[in-house]
Amino acid sequence: MSNPSLLILPGDGIGPEVMAEVRKIITWFGDKRGITFDVSEDLVGGCAYDAHGVPLTDETMAKAQEVDAVLLGAVGGPKYDSLDFSVKPERGLLRLRKEMDLFSNLRPAQCFDALADFSSLKKNVVAGLDIMIIRELTSGVYFGEPRGIIREGNERVGINTQRYTESEIARVARSAFEMARKRSNKVCSMEKANVMESGILWREVVQEIHDAEYPDVELSHMYADAGAMQLTRWPKQFDVIVTDNLFGDLLSDLAAMLTGSLGMLPSASLGAPMANGRPKALYEPVHGSAPDIAGQEKANPCACILSFAMALRYSFDLGDEATRLEAAVEKVLADGVRTADLLNEEGVTPATTSQMGDAVVAALDASL
Ligand code: NAD
Repeated sequence: MSNPSLLILPGDGIGPEVMAEVRKIITWFGDKRGITFDVSEDLVGGCAYDAHGVPLTDETMAKAQEVDAVLLGAVGGPKYDSLDFSVKPERGLLRLRKEMDLFSNLRPAQCFDALADFSSLKKNVVAGLDIMIIRELTSGVYFGEPRGIIREGNERVGINTQRYTESEIARVARSAFEMARKRSNKVCSMEKANVMESGILWREVVQEIHDAEYPDVELSHMYADAGAMQLTRWPKQFDVIVTDNLFGDLLSDLAAMLTGSLGMLPSASLGAPMANGRPKALYEPVHGSAPDIAGQEKANPCACILSFAMALRYSFDLGDEATRLEAAVEKVLADGVRTADLLNEEGVTPATTSQMGDAVVAALDASL
């Protein structure tokens, strides 16, 4: 049987720096666990524009469609700010998401004990927090037509359209129920059925899919604004939250920041199952290319390492190894190893990007 395949797209800014640490982890799994991946690497974002005049070539896009999983670092940077919209680095990422039809965006919000003091909320509210927000990623108001800025009389009008089909709602609902079955068997669906027809349909379809296919999963519904309040009041009441593109954009950022630094946050975007039964998948840290710290060995590689852990779990059926890797990150934090973003004390020397990666590898060694 051939090895599982992984396409690595480090991208721009700190992307290549954090990806270098993931490379160490991949090597460790090959050497110490006999788990080998066919890894290929390519360009995305500004570096692809520099080399080819486009932020993602057709060849790279084709490769992304073939592999078992794509792992991306980050794209963008000030150098590319003045480029035409059509070739901006972010267009490379959007093309990947669109052409791979990655409709289900998984954003875990997990609070590592050692970082509970970092949250803006009280420690008892966030300690032990572990929730999963599933955001619909390919439809809704960011894509609905008509859209644009038109002139009406003597003023301009900005238009966007919130639009969801039954099948778009059904597939992301299924993805949430499947996720819940692997976790605590509980889903809360969030919309604005009180004021939006698309919200009424969302609630109806989620309930129908539940009743027909997942009656064993506990389902509740909440208006998204109330959900935002509940997330800050007592986030541990939730396990899986499923919501649309716009509300998910806001709620997942809110939930993520309950847990501390941007440098700790992984994500996965999943599509329909491929021939091997696994979903099309793109894994990436939530953070961007951080031009302010790029090239200085200051980046925290944990978000990218934890994104790889998600790939182990969701693309490679290696849940135990994913747990091993997450536990290694947790141990490193508990041991007090911190990159600069995780320090708020004066006089403590932060770990560099590579020291943090090395510490995770050492913790993996210790797990054997
Ligand atoms: P950013 O996430 O790059 O940085 C925000 C802040 O967080 C910065 O102060 C940065 O130093 C810090 N930070 C981010 N990741 C960190 C890490 N791993 N370790 C330590 N500190 C970290 O967001 P931004 O500054 O708004 O955007 C910078 C560039 O990245 C822009 O070109 C933007 O378009 C792009 N961007 C890309 C993605 C992506 O590739 N998915 C996401 C967001 C922004």
